[in-house]
Amino acid sequence: MLRMTDILAAKRDGRSLSEAEIRFFIEGYTRDEIPDYQASALLMAIFLNGLEDRELNTWADAMLHSGEVLDLSDIPGAKVDKHSTGGVGDKISLPLAPLVAEAGLIVPMISGRGLGHTGGTLDKLESIPGFRTDLPVDRLRALLRTFGFGLIGQTARIAPADRKLYALRDATSTVECIPLIASSIMSKKLAEGLDALVLDVKVGSGAFMKRREDARALAETMIRIGEAAGCRVRALLTDMDQPLGRAVGNALEVAESVDVLRGEGPSDVRDLTLELGAEMLVLGDRARTVDEARETLAAILDSGAALDRFAKLADAQGGDAEAVLDPSRLPRAERTVVLEAPRDGFVERFLTDDVGRAAMVLGAGRARKEDTVDPAVGLVLEVERGDRVERGQPLVTLHVNAGSDVEGALGRLGEAIRIGDEAPAEVPLVLERLGVTP
Ligand code: URA
Repeated sequence: MLRMTDILAAKRDGRSLSEAEIRFFIEGYTRDEIPDYQASALLMAIFLNGLEDRELNTWADAMLHSGEVLDLSDIPGAKVDKHSTGGVGDKISLPLAPLVAEAGLIVPMISGRGLGHTGGTLDKLESIPGFRTDLPVDRLRALLRTFGFGLIGQTARIAPADRKLYALRDATSTVECIPLIASSIMSKKLAEGLDALVLDVKVGSGAFMKRREDARALAETMIRIGEAAGCRVRALLTDMDQPLGRAVGNALEVAESVDVLRGEGPSDVRDLTLELGAEMLVLGDRARTVDEARETLAAILDSGAALDRFAKLADAQGGDAEAVLDPSRLPRAERTVVLEAPRDGFVERFLTDDVGRAAMVLGAGRARKEDTVDPAVGLVLEVERGDRVERGQPLVTLHVNAGSDVEGALGRLGEAIRIGDEAPAEVPLVLERLGVTP
């Protein structure tokens, strides 16, 4: 008979756990049969001693099967999704999902909310008046059949082990652990019943992983878990040393996404949408090479067809399609405040997480899970890394409402945007590509 005390002693002493032991723990903890104090001790032992590949694959598989796993095999087409490890101004899911659906993929996108300095896709979508993301899986199926994509939130039935374990990790300082992060992310994504997955692993001051080697290790771990589960995975390591695009804040980011879906918008948002989308198309066998896929997708963006698809999906999810086609109808803040450059020079670097925190204190994000967000507030960057600026020139336009902590946001932004004498070296948006070679 298996006992938690033996499992704890094994991991404490650096021994590996058997498949039966891992399943005993994940299943027992999900069913509330194992107390938090024993689960906490195991998480800390894993934090300190790690998990071998075999243990990790079993751990992730047990988390995945702790709840519902979608079977989408009755819907024709390759099921391919994208996951980003999160950043500031990262609205890529919004243009990407309708774009690759327009190109023939099925995208069952189940997203999360923002927390701390990072934003979340659900919060952005819900700034479209009426847009519902709390839809059951049956509705997602219907959306996939009609539109090729659907944008919903995590349901309580998907990977319930992760829900409990993540809350416990948060309370026990065991979040920053690559095997635990990788299995947490992959258990939720694999529950979508995917054929393939593209990971956008962010690196830099606005990312979970500040250092390239940590991001690479996380990406490689997630790729191994995906492949063990029969899902083809590619990962791009991408720059998060400055916000993505200009807009940070929910409705502002929807408006910027709509610009991209019109063939316009900031070049970094367009380029990353095309890069991730091209990888998805190749993995889903809709294109032979990334170059060919990129061209196909660029033509779709420029045609406006993906915007049309997005507006129709918004309507089907209860949202105001007119506000998608005309973002001036999205929620707007009462007033704007401009932060000016304190001196002449070059925009040398961003402390990107502080840009995210500035948007959060304006009301665009959450300090705690229970907080609500204001869809209208946020900020628009008027400069990017490397720009030459003159004293008094606008750096950021803040969109603020009565509840916004404007002074707090200005203070953070003043610190976060570093003006210096030297133009910084250029950094490519895509730093590395990892995983199956198409
Ligand atoms: N995101 C997740 O879903 N899980 C983690 O552990 C960390 C980030």
